[in-house]
This record gives sequence, C-alpha cells and structure tokens, in this order.
Amino acid sequence: MGKHNSVILIDYSKCSPCSGLICIGVCPFGVLEAGTDDKPQIVDVVSCTRCGVCANLCPLKAITINQNESKDK
Ligand code: SF4
Ligand code: SF4
Repeated sequence: MGKHNSVILIDYSKCSPCSGLICIGVCPFGVLEAGTDDKPQIVDVVSCTRCGVCANLCPLKAITINQNESKDK
C-alpha cells in the first residue's frame, strides 16, 4: 500500500502554490496536474522517473523525491 504514492511527497503546507505552477510545467512525463485548489496533484505516479527536476525547481522546496522508495517497502 502507498508504495507508488511515496515516490513523490508534496508538502502542501509549503506549496503556495507558486505562480505558473512550475513543477507541473517542468515534469516531462505529465506526472503532475493542477487540482481544484491549483496545487499539484500526482496523477500519474508510475510515469515518474524520479528525475528530481520538479523538486529542484520548486521555489518553496515543497517537493521531495524519495530516491530510495523501492528499498523502503
Ligand atoms: S521527479 Fe521528474 S518525472 Fe517525477 S514528477 Fe518530478 S519532474 Fe516529473
Ligand atoms: S513548484 Fe512548488 S510551490 Fe510551485 S506549484 Fe509546485 S509544489 Fe507548489
């Protein structure tokens, strides 16, 4: 349970969300989409390659990519 969802952790208390929804725009794989509150929702986690681009470019450091997810079980 929760295995895939633990790959990307979005801290909604940090996400304002930013102007332009940077993380959604930069993800090459369409993993993130804006929800009704405009904050990013994880809509296709299996396509996430954990490239880290979204986390690196988030101005508020609201996203954490769990690189070790497969080992955590
Ligand atoms: S880590 Fe890469 S593939 Fe995964 S959601 Fe972020 S930008 Fe998309
Ligand atoms: S880049 Fe960061 S602040 Fe901007 S929408 Fe994504 S998670 Fe929120």
